[in-house]
Amino acid sequence: QPIEGLSAGLVITNFGQRLLVEAEDGAIHNCAVRQHLGKLVAGDRVFWEADGESGRGIVSAVSPRYSELTRPGFRGQTRMVAANIDVIGIVAPIEPGVHPDMIDRYLVAAAQLDIPVALIINKIDLLQTDDAWDNLAEILLPYDEMGIDIITVSAHLADGLDDIEQFLNQKTSVFVGPSGAGKSSLINALIPDLAIRTSSLSSATGLGVHTTTNSILYHLRCGGDIIDSPGVRRFTPAPCDLSELESYYADFAPYLGQCRFDNCTHQHEPDCAIRQAVEEGDIAETRFNSFQGMRQAFTDPSKNSGGQK
Ligand code: GDP
Ligand code: ZN
Repeated sequence: QPIEGLSAGLVITNFGQRLLVEAEDGAIHNCAVRQHLGKLVAGDRVFWEADGESGRGIVSAVSPRYSELTRPGFRGQTRMVAANIDVIGIVAPIEPGVHPDMIDRYLVAAAQLDIPVALIINKIDLLQTDDAWDNLAEILLPYDEMGIDIITVSAHLADGLDDIEQFLNQKTSVFVGPSGAGKSSLINALIPDLAIRTSSLSSATGLGVHTTTNSILYHLRCGGDIIDSPGVRRFTPAPCDLSELESYYADFAPYLGQCRFDNCTHQHEPDCAIRQAVEEGDIAETRFNSFQGMRQAFTDPSKNSGGQK
């Protein structure tokens, strides 16, 4: 929605109290921010006006965000790292391994933010045998059955990049996943001029920008944007109660409310519909185990490895 006298722009990165804002013509403007707007970040859609002749500007309005990614900061505060994300790419690597526990923690965290996900399996160049492929297919089956998009890629061989691009087309995305999954390698493969882009952003700030501290938005060749941020990479679910956690397990849905006890934790209670579904192979054991791990971590603070608030 246009505002009298202001131009629309997209926040590419923030540095100090300032922003780099991309105008509709693609030019980058180094902008101050009116104080009442709070902390703005990559992905924010803003309205700005020129401030003198220097190409500098002032941001005086921001569109409401439809999604936000934060990370834990000092003293329990949260820091905003990216705004208006359409899809979270969960990057899981063949080496050291595709671990359902890890995938499920990211799935829960994304569900809490109500942001859709895609599962990106990287380093498929390391899958040498049919057995290895079969093993992977078995791990991924529950996600496929839940309707989650699964993309298999090799950043090293540039294999499957088309599939990622097709999926990210016209969307704003972030990649999350454990360190070593290949997130940087994938972003580098998707954005060939990344280094040039980053250094031109650096000179626009006069201070330098670094992916180690700043979230930076990059355009994909296919259309769509990707926000690279180490803050987004450390992505964990917030502790929640049993019924909320259950609601994030789409594959449990047909069985919920069918246990003998309303508050069934699906451990040792008699007539547990969830455990029965696991025994009959209708819920994957890996999913059941990750659920129990998170349930315990969230409900027993002494074992609070499950999340942070
Ligand atoms: P990040 O921590 O998630 O950003 O992971 P990096 O992009 O730094 O990659 C971690 C390691 O995995 C590096 O040694 C990469 O060279 C390697 N790697 C990344 N992608 C691939 C791939 O497709 N195949 C193989 N074999 N190794 C990869
Ligand atoms: Zn039960």
